[in-house]
Amino acid sequence: MEKYLSQLNEAQLEPTIQIDGPMIIIAGAGSGKTRVLTYRIAYMMSKGIDPFNILSLTFTNKSAREMKERIAGIVGTSEAKNLWMGTFHSVFAKILRIEADRLGYPSNFTIYDTQDSDRLIASIIKELQLDKDIYKYKQVRSRISSYKNSLITVRAYFQNPELKEADAMARRPRMGDIYKAYVDRCFKAGAMDFDDLLLKTNELLTRFPEVLMKYQNRFKYILVDEYQDTNHSQYLIVRALSDKFQNICVVGDDAQSIYAFRGANINNILNFQKDYDDVKEFRLEQNYRSTKNIVNAANSIIDKNETKLEKIVWTANDEGEKVKVHRSLTDGDEGRYVASTIWENKMQNQLKNSDFAILYRTNAQSRSIEDALRKRDIPYRIYGGLSFYQRKEIKDVLSYLRLIINPADEEALKRVINFPPRGIGQTTVDKLIVSANGYNRTIFEVMKNIDKTDVKINSGTKTKLQNFVTLIESFQVLNQTADVFELAEHVTRTTGLIKEFNKDGTPEGVAKMENIEELLNGMKDFVEGQKEIADTTGSLAEFLEDVALATDLDADKGDADHVALMTIHLAKGLEFPTVFVVGLEEDLFPSAMSMNTRSELEEERRLFYVALTRAEKQAYLTYALSRYRWGKLVDSEPSRFIEEIDEQYLDIVTPIEERRFNPMLSADIFGDPETAQINPNKIRYKPAKKPVFKKGNVTKKEPEKFEVTTHKNLKPVTKTNGNTNLFDSKLVVGNIVKHIRFGTGEVMKIEGTGGDVKAEINFQHGGVKKLLLRFAKLEVV
Ligand code: ATP
Ligand code: MG
Repeated sequence: MEKYLSQLNEAQLEPTIQIDGPMIIIAGAGSGKTRVLTYRIAYMMSKGIDPFNILSLTFTNKSAREMKERIAGIVGTSEAKNLWMGTFHSVFAKILRIEADRLGYPSNFTIYDTQDSDRLIASIIKELQLDKDIYKYKQVRSRISSYKNSLITVRAYFQNPELKEADAMARRPRMGDIYKAYVDRCFKAGAMDFDDLLLKTNELLTRFPEVLMKYQNRFKYILVDEYQDTNHSQYLIVRALSDKFQNICVVGDDAQSIYAFRGANINNILNFQKDYDDVKEFRLEQNYRSTKNIVNAANSIIDKNETKLEKIVWTANDEGEKVKVHRSLTDGDEGRYVASTIWENKMQNQLKNSDFAILYRTNAQSRSIEDALRKRDIPYRIYGGLSFYQRKEIKDVLSYLRLIINPADEEALKRVINFPPRGIGQTTVDKLIVSANGYNRTIFEVMKNIDKTDVKINSGTKTKLQNFVTLIESFQVLNQTADVFELAEHVTRTTGLIKEFNKDGTPEGVAKMENIEELLNGMKDFVEGQKEIADTTGSLAEFLEDVALATDLDADKGDADHVALMTIHLAKGLEFPTVFVVGLEEDLFPSAMSMNTRSELEEERRLFYVALTRAEKQAYLTYALSRYRWGKLVDSEPSRFIEEIDEQYLDIVTPIEERRFNPMLSADIFGDPETAQINPNKIRYKPAKKPVFKKGNVTKKEPEKFEVTTHKNLKPVTKTNGNTNLFDSKLVVGNIVKHIRFGTGEVMKIEGTGGDVKAEINFQHGGVKKLLLRFAKLEVV
């Protein structure tokens, strides 16, 4: 037997060496599902199956890459190169490029990201003169997205009066018109949005039987990870492609289905048996990831869900420490607790930053955690916020590059036609759009043939438009010989982008320059990497494809050592030695928006299960009794999920912060205009409305009594915890301070009392500013 197969247990080995026919592995977290898929591919190749015939679909491109590396380690790099692996989106984008002309698209079509879609939808709403408070572009976008994922085309929409009625009931009777305009405009711009990548693939496979056959024959073996989170559109693609040979292997865990809100359909996994003949079903029960305490705690949680497949998950790993539960007074305290725990753990156990992950329900929660980590100088990285490629300056560069490949790209054109400013105003652009719509041409075509159109503009503007066209065309020429790095360097210089960001000299300008530099570095890496791994040249087209489908996780090269911060949704499939799940409070987690029905609540519970099962050695669950939400300090109660865990696996940590800090002096309460004004006697720190731990020997801790100072005589005080917030350390004239926006400056004057203390600061780049210390985030340097 091949040596690597000995790294599997018996239950894992069986599905690994079962190559033919439809099969499904349903198993709990950490039981080796992804590992089986990886080894199975290696095994297939060692049995002589051409990697060219294997298609493997994963949840992120990062996990595809990791799998590929693993396989390359077993069968060799050159063999593994030919495997088709990646997310649904990236794999089918490739196929769509090959087949684009059948659908009337150019093969160099642009992929619109959500920002592009949002901008286009917003402008359509404006052009149709609809009320933007009723037609909120984000809501409209998600509605359009759900049509597309249910395969409701524009035509199908207008043929179905029920859909129209439903939208009319939701006070948006013109939804269909927006949908139609959006689809038309994308088509004309040679652009597909993310949902199109699936929708158009479905269209391709149903409309063109010869294409279907071609890919059925090509992908004789199909494997899908995280199958529980496939949506209808993805389901149909897999179904169609695997129909001929039925060599399909899907793995998943119904208990980890967490994307229903984006159209994922758990029935895909539950009905798999009905879709294919003679399905072989496998179960894996042994968890290799986590300690006994973590596995058991997670089991006791998921047990509360009624809708589930019965599964056993056990582990032979150590008992480990109990899951720690920590209560804080405020979200600020919670952040400090997490940061200090990481700091202490690192010191005591010689751990790396990357051994820790902090998971939360919503992105907004990262702020207080970040503050605390920064104060302790713990490097961290946030995943899934605004991705690098969506920053303004980066998108500006990318828009020029997109135009080179596809001049029809409307959103790219609108972004840079007058940036850096070249005297082409919005009125001119509006005229171009109207004309383009009228002639059914692209804006770029109208510009190119401006003399043959009826666009009324003066000759000066005409010249400017022609110059722009010439500029882009000169880039197109260069693109035929240069790689993406050389090209982008040339573009940023000749367009004046670099000069534009350089010119203001503000810290933001500098940061933007640095980002562009980082982009160029990334391109250089890309060019070299492509030559090495994929035997290609590192062209602009390849780069844009890579960027368009990069999720934030993909950007992580895994070299830097940092604590990972991300939402639980993003953490699916990952694992970390120590995991903090923060913000375990009612209305936050479970989310207030997901408590209306039992099925919504069950999805939240599955989400919690996913969070807890990311931990290998240690898990911390934290919550705060009050938290800033929507700019207000609100009371919160501990999440029901904490109570639901069998308490024998829990360790209720003494909330040290409650004794150590007087929260009236905590920076967090200070920062808020509302609380700073109210009578401190009313400041709430009442205990949770219901006792948190009803059962057993855990005693409920009463909140400590605090001395409260009244608002008037609140003074900046010195604390000893190394905190540099200005309310903790006296600010004096002559101090050098740092401000996030204005940079470094010198304190010239201090005036006012209590919460109204203001400082006059002379910033190196921003000039003299008067700042209310209550709000200004300053650090003494
Ligand atoms: P999830 O449901 O979270 O996606 P999974 O079922 O895909 O989890 P894997 O990620 O494949 O589980 O495996 C979990 C961990 O256990 C990984 O670190 C993996 O390398 C390890 N592992 C799996 N099987 C074995 C085994 N037989 N021997 C040793 N380690 C194993
Ligand atoms: Mg997995």
